[in-house]
Amino acid sequence: MGRKRNLNWLERKLEALRSFEGSLLGYVGSSPDVKQLATRLGLSSSEVLRLGANENFFVDSNFLNEVFLEALDGVDLRLYDPKAMVELREALGVYVRVPPECLVVGSGSEQLVDFIVKFFLEKGDNGISIEPSFFMYEKRVWLSGATLLTVPLKKNLFLDVEGILEKVTQKTKLIFVCSPNNPTGNQFGWNEIKKLADESPAIVVVDEAYAEFGDYSLCPLAVNEKNVVVVRTFSKAFGLAGLRFGYAVAHKGLASVFSEIIPYTVSTITARYVQKLLGKIEVVQKWIDMVKEERERLAKGLRAINGMEVLDSKANFITFKPYESAEHIHKELLEKGIIVKDLGDLPLIGHCLRVTVGLPHMNDRFLKTLSEIA
Ligand code: PMP
Repeated sequence: MGRKRNLNWLERKLEALRSFEGSLLGYVGSSPDVKQLATRLGLSSSEVLRLGANENFFVDSNFLNEVFLEALDGVDLRLYDPKAMVELREALGVYVRVPPECLVVGSGSEQLVDFIVKFFLEKGDNGISIEPSFFMYEKRVWLSGATLLTVPLKKNLFLDVEGILEKVTQKTKLIFVCSPNNPTGNQFGWNEIKKLADESPAIVVVDEAYAEFGDYSLCPLAVNEKNVVVVRTFSKAFGLAGLRFGYAVAHKGLASVFSEIIPYTVSTITARYVQKLLGKIEVVQKWIDMVKEERERLAKGLRAINGMEVLDSKANFITFKPYESAEHIHKELLEKGIIVKDLGDLPLIGHCLRVTVGLPHMNDRFLKTLSEIA
């Protein structure tokens, strides 16, 4: 007779994971299924505006696919290919102006945050995040068994450096600062990050997912500090959310340990693809400039709508608070085939919606519809 197995622990664990997913603070609900929504409204999928996930429609998908074919040329997928990883880091180093040994690559920045949490946070430790900010840190820290403490931004949305430092103890291993911050859209300066790094024992993780749309990047400065890690992604500026590519910039002591432990987080195809794309950076830069220009037009359009409070943005989204109930506006927009993000009722900024900077014709339709219902 075989041994009787008891999987109760697994059921309990899965239940805990499920219930945590459902209870994420801040962000309300996940994105609706575009196809289902289109069918219900009698529209084609392409008529539904996806303005809730900060994807980048300025980048030409045909161009991206053509680069893919170029990148495939000469790739032998039977092999582990450390040379592809070395050359990838060299190309990235030129792009962000840091030495290649200060770079760690991964399948999207979310995966890198996952590793950072896994390597540095243990049960009983804590991390600190600003509030409001990106929900992912909370989820990751929770999974590690550690605790996430939060410190609200100041009223003017600046970092409350003193407030964060007051919460720091020897158990604090990570401080997350998203900059430009999702969802407030503002960018924080090096002096504040440096103070957090100098005056705490924690690693300051700066999430620069949207930095290409901002005024500067902290990457070149981060490599001189032992306890600052900047995490970046190709999902936003490069329009490659589906590719899953991100990277971290850190002091070479930290980065080299990371790259040794996780040498093959991206496929050879991804490595070659990113390298090829960085060779055409001027094309991508043109699209980034277009997003920034269009963002200002969109903000102006939003501000012209009755009673709308609009946050300045250094990212490819704009967060706004309608005069009327945000929940109602969100639903009404959905009924017209326009998806924006309902951020829920957040500390400091209240119940806001967040819209991605779309192509001009998308923003025109969004603004026109919004002005009719708001
Ligand atoms: N950081 C922030 C602040 C984000 O908003 C997002 C995605 N919305 C990510 C990270 C995730 O990026 P990636 O696709 O590289 O995992």
